[in-house]
Amino acid sequence: MERTLVIIKPEAVRKKLVGKIISIYEDNRLEIIHAHRVLATSDVLKLHYQDLITKPFFEELVSYMSSSECVVLILEGEHVVETVRKINGATDPGKADPGTIRYMYGETLQVNAVHGSESVEKADLEIEIWRDLIRYEKGSKR
Ligand code: UDP
Ligand code: MG
Repeated sequence: MERTLVIIKPEAVRKKLVGKIISIYEDNRLEIIHAHRVLATSDVLKLHYQDLITKPFFEELVSYMSSSECVVLILEGEHVVETVRKINGATDPGKADPGTIRYMYGETLQVNAVHGSESVEKADLEIEIWRDLIRYEKGSKR
């Protein structure tokens, strides 16, 4: 079954939006198979955002993402990668469709409430990158 990695970003955790955000995924019939609250390390974030390493905002992004704890979720379901991207909305909350998580809870282009993997391949890679930090067991069928 397809899986994806979601990060509820630091500002959304600070604002106590974790329950509301998880409910949105569950209302869309997606299954939360793992959830872990953790302070992200810069090592993991640099791997997670490796494709953005040349961007001018890279260092600021890594520093924001490790500014306080986030909640990392693994979701499972048919077409879960694409479904989560739709539910999350556009990267820029100002351009996100009404009803999406980023429209409702995002603040800025960077401080935009949630992350969702871009493709099935990226999802598998991100789950490996975060696996130890979020204590998601190797070989876990769940
Ligand atoms: N980001 C940023 N400045 C930008 C573009 C993106 O700080 O100009 C941050 C933002 O938090 C975004 C993350 O970098 O969610 C990853 O960027 P990407 O383009 O992959 O967007 P996403 O896949 O998260 O929608
Ligand atoms: Mg992306």
